Amino acid sequence: MVDCCSAPGLMPFAQALETMLSAITPITDVETITLKEGLGRALAADIASPMNVPPHNNSAMDGYAFAQASLTTQEYLTLAGRSMAGQPFEGSCVKGECIRIMTGAKLPDGCDTVEMQENCQAEGESIRFLEKRKQGDHVRYAGEDIAKGHIVFAKGRRLSAIDIGVLASLGINELQVFRKLTIALIATGDELKALGEPLGNGDIYESNSYALTGMLQNLNVNIIDFGVIQDDEEAIRQAFIDADKQADAVISSGGVSVGDADYTKMVLEQLGEIAFWKIAMKPGKPFAFGKLPNSYFFGLPGNPVSAMVTADLLAMPALMKLQNCHAKPATTLKAKSLSDLRKSPGRMDFQRGVLSQNSAGELTVGTTGSQGSGILTSIAFANCYIVLPSEQGRVSAGEMVDVRLFERFYS
Ligand code: AMP
Ligand code: MG
Repeated sequence: MVDCCSAPGLMPFAQALETMLSAITPITDVETITLKEGLGRALAADIASPMNVPPHNNSAMDGYAFAQASLTTQEYLTLAGRSMAGQPFEGSCVKGECIRIMTGAKLPDGCDTVEMQENCQAEGESIRFLEKRKQGDHVRYAGEDIAKGHIVFAKGRRLSAIDIGVLASLGINELQVFRKLTIALIATGDELKALGEPLGNGDIYESNSYALTGMLQNLNVNIIDFGVIQDDEEAIRQAFIDADKQADAVISSGGVSVGDADYTKMVLEQLGEIAFWKIAMKPGKPFAFGKLPNSYFFGLPGNPVSAMVTADLLAMPALMKLQNCHAKPATTLKAKSLSDLRKSPGRMDFQRGVLSQNSAGELTVGTTGSQGSGILTSIAFANCYIVLPSEQGRVSAGEMVDVRLFERFYS
């Protein structure tokens, strides 16, 4: 299904991403959920505001509301009532009168302007206005935040915490969203031990599935964790068959390079249509993508940094598409490199960096140190990728480089 393996050499990163995205058909099942379940879910329909926000004209200040025309000939107005937040003035304010009003309280009928209390002198029922006001001063208008009928969020939006607050402010408690994806995670490798098990000679703790689970939780998916599968052809085949039956996508890590014990490739070629790519990116050269009978397959490299970077830059965009989410383009900025950066031409580098601003206001980026593909702390303490194009060689301190801010998936 994906023609790529015939291409000699390494596939450019952008081409791998595009080929993969165009091979994915989004799910269509929709379900109704309540707002509190909405974090990370993808909207299945546009949401039009059922009301104006704010719902009524109201005051932006503590002070007095009145008709601005009242003050053209006089500087005293007669206090005729109070309008508090939640306890509006029910009557109508006529010429020559004013109403005591608090921030957020409904603007009474007959009023079009508010003066702040600091510019007024109260003498019993007589209020003296020390300054002239323009009509509409200190008034917040109905619908100035969101007008009734306006599309607040479009179909395909992945809901953030703030989005949920916005929907609550509109009184919306039921949402049509695309169903949750189910993702199977498989770690392969004889040397991998689950947490809690003793480490034997040459063993390491399995960590990829933990970091991947954390990233996937931001998409609010169901996760089926298959744990560690040994480097054994039959065990791998069985795990892939089971995972494919239950999941929309299967993500494995390890076993996609060309080591003697890398059965992943062999088994997948028997089960489905899988392409193994050598992508011109660093970290993350070996990567598999394809289709099993029921699911999509993402084969991440085993090295923890490579696994995270390919998950972030390749698998997550693919899952977003499968989930019908509109992915925002990544934020890319130019910054001055604080140090020399090692780089040889041939692959696109996604080095890990810390973006900040110096005292002159310039954006600067520092490396998080050793960029080995096993050094997971190089991502943990970073806030961006330093993206160096394929043909680029070594970078000298002071040169401008492209940085790409981390997505929310990492935090
Ligand atoms: P592989 O791609 O299977 O050759 O693995 C490359 C490197 O990543 C090896 O050093 C593995 O021990 C390590 N590795 C593979 N899978 C994992 C995992 N799930 N957690 C931590 N390290 C892993
Ligand atoms: Mg392995």
